[in-house]
Amino acid sequence: MGAARSVGIVGGGQLAWMLAEAARHRGVELHVQTPGANDPAVPLATSVVQADVRDVAATRELARRCRAISFENEWVDLDGLAPLAAEGACFLPDLQALRPLVCKRSQRELLNRFNLPSPAWFPLAQVHERPEPEPTSPVPEGQRPQQSPQDLGPMLPQGFAYPLMAKASSGGYDGKGTVVLRSDTDLEALLERVDSNGWIVEEFVSFELELAVVAARDQFGDVVCLPVVQTHQHHQVCDWVLAPFETSHALQQAARNMAASLLTALNYVGVLSIEFFYGPRGLIINELAPRTHNSGHYSIEACDQSQFDLQLLCVAGEPVTEPQLLMPGALMVNLLGFEQRSADDPHCSYDQQRQALADLPDVHLHWYGKAGSSPGRKLGHVTVLLQQHDPQARRQEAMQRLEQVRQIWPLPQEPKTA
Ligand code: ADP
Repeated sequence: MGAARSVGIVGGGQLAWMLAEAARHRGVELHVQTPGANDPAVPLATSVVQADVRDVAATRELARRCRAISFENEWVDLDGLAPLAAEGACFLPDLQALRPLVCKRSQRELLNRFNLPSPAWFPLAQVHERPEPEPTSPVPEGQRPQQSPQDLGPMLPQGFAYPLMAKASSGGYDGKGTVVLRSDTDLEALLERVDSNGWIVEEFVSFELELAVVAARDQFGDVVCLPVVQTHQHHQVCDWVLAPFETSHALQQAARNMAASLLTALNYVGVLSIEFFYGPRGLIINELAPRTHNSGHYSIEACDQSQFDLQLLCVAGEPVTEPQLLMPGALMVNLLGFEQRSADDPHCSYDQQRQALADLPDVHLHWYGKAGSSPGRKLGHVTVLLQQHDPQARRQEAMQRLEQVRQIWPLPQEPKTA
């Protein structure tokens, strides 16, 4: 195993890049496993194991270089890595804690088991399961036999009605792998297109707002949380985040309690983010992300410790303390690619827009340095520090600042794959 203040991360995208920035700041070594020599985290990493993120031999090499390994995203090959853990490689969160979190179906099962509020759901494959037909009496001669249930199309389980939200259990992100079902026709079209064993279907929740909280648990069992924030999506991709979400103490506590219960029950060490729907039924958990999260990026400038600092501390085996906001609030706006531009297009780095954004007061620009751009792809973000103390005035300030950013950086027209 490597030096004490050294951590490894599997993945080299923007989350690893921001983790690498925090590591430099804190004097922690960060070793990265990522396939591309030009991936965002590469220039900042202490060392790079250049290999696919699912290459177990490469992860063994990564483990040799650091105290413990964390993951940039939830697409972790748990079975592939189990032998490495048995050899003594330290994964934080550990593979056992990650197991229920790496796919949407096992997340739903976990939330049901813990009786935490989440959308009602069923496995897509269940629509084929029809009750045994009643034994029928012989058809009198000259009459047509009745249609048997097996001849009919798929059937929703009891208690479910359209619209519904179908989701790929794994591999989806930013709304890719989610499909709204409005009718039997949509359901049948989905069944033709996908392997029903890899999908779940859930009630379409009518919510007022989406909220999120980033929590961290250290190896001593202490849990801390960033403030609860409001997230806003555009075509299912996070568009902006307003921090803090000004709400009752009870609601803040409810969100924090859910985070603490989950982290503690799973004996989870590291950062975990929870996305909520918020509406007449209160908080409903939409998704758990076993990692740092887009909804916590604002913490880099707005808090005394960012979500990346918290991840580093947890993975380096150090204690965490409650992060504090350093200013009244912050607005994070994602810079989603709004045009198709190839990596060799001289305009693919959006220099003009970046300069204009960087010139705005109290704006911090983070540019991930990805090669090429496509509509909807996350290319960077800005964090705007907000000055108003009164929550209503602050929200107004945030919406005015959003408008300013939008004039420089428009939203993509079409939702497209990244
Ligand atoms: P992904 O993992 O691809 O980001 P999510 O499950 O977070 O997918 O869904 C993306 C967005 O789709 C959510 O932020 C929300 O706006 C919407 N959404 C997801 N599930 C539901 C649901 N059950 N009911 C209503 N809207 C939903």
